[in-house]
Amino acid sequence: MVVRATAAETMILDWLAAQRPAMLALLEQLVNTDSGSYDKAGVDQVGAQIRRFLGAHGIAHDTIANDTFGDAIRATVGEGSNTSILLMGHRDTVFPRQEAARRPFRVDNGRAYGPGVADMKAGLVMNAFVLAAFEKFGAPAPVVGLFTADEEIGSPSSRGLIESEARRARAVFNSEPGRPSGNVVTGRKGGVFMRFEVTGKAAHSGANFSDGISAIEELARKTIALHALTDLAKGITVNVGLISGGQTVNTVAPWAKGEIDLRYVTLADREATMGRIGEIIATSFVPGTSTIVEITGEFLPLVESTEGRRLFDLYSACARELGLKVAGEFTGGCADSGFAAHAGAPTLCATGPIGARAHTPDEYLEIDSIVPRAQTLALAVMRVGGG
Ligand SMILES: [Zn+2]
Repeated sequence: MVVRATAAETMILDWLAAQRPAMLALLEQLVNTDSGSYDKAGVDQVGAQIRRFLGAHGIAHDTIANDTFGDAIRATVGEGSNTSILLMGHRDTVFPRQEAARRPFRVDNGRAYGPGVADMKAGLVMNAFVLAAFEKFGAPAPVVGLFTADEEIGSPSSRGLIESEARRARAVFNSEPGRPSGNVVTGRKGGVFMRFEVTGKAAHSGANFSDGISAIEELARKTIALHALTDLAKGITVNVGLISGGQTVNTVAPWAKGEIDLRYVTLADREATMGRIGEIIATSFVPGTSTIVEITGEFLPLVESTEGRRLFDLYSACARELGLKVAGEFTGGCADSGFAAHAGAPTLCATGPIGARAHTPDEYLEIDSIVPRAQTLALAVMRVGGG
């Protein structure tokens, strides 16, 4: 199967191939542990399972504590160079407590199911085993594994750590799930998530209608203006995805609030569109209303670059050697890879095992993809590490 791999490479690839049952056992354990982003105890429990694995394989690691979200884990194998190769993954899922009890890990017809099985507990397992292989057989350069806590909510506690590790990385692989086609992701949109709140004035809608100032009308007019900023040709979308407001049916609404999701391709488009959003927020379409807005979360875009392209070429050549066909894709979904790329590191995303339908009960993982994706990643790390 392996055409050009060296003896050292073959040793690692063969070892990874033999780990399939152990990979599935660790995956089952992680999936059966609830770890919603705001569930610190659960995210830390998944962290304890990963630390146990790292410890059992003699992998040096430290824990970066956080009071609000799960603690971050940083594992390191190999030494020698002052640049590293970074493997990233997040431990949190979008699912509530008890989800794992309701639909625990199961395998049916070559697919594994369960909360977060593809997004991205399989990627965590893959990264952990690739680190173990390099600990056992020797790493080509320092390889750092980050197991972070809160990607699904914009990585408020992980962003700084990701950026500082990416700044000294010569390559970053983010093990979000590979596409059903087997493709990886070479470009992602950036996203800004905002909350806005409109204040009007309450009045009895029968007796004193004219005294009222409707916050709901203002929110409706703002929503129409915000949606008009969408420019599909440029990849800019503005979506007011949540609204609420008002007091009772017979009261002119004294308040209303909504949440905005902006997606864009370039940072220039971010600046321009944020400016327009600011103008719309500042405009009172209904005289007498006032509005405040705040950013609640943000992802930077994974901008396609020459260095990123080179890393993709290297990765896809490794995949080809292992008999896999991998192309690069652009997606509107956001991920931590944008932070790494913005910090200046050549970055590839969705290098994890193949899966789909993330964030739904139908999420699945192709279990036969775990070993080949681990092998491709390991080979790519060796080739990057060898210069
Ligand atoms: Zn994810």
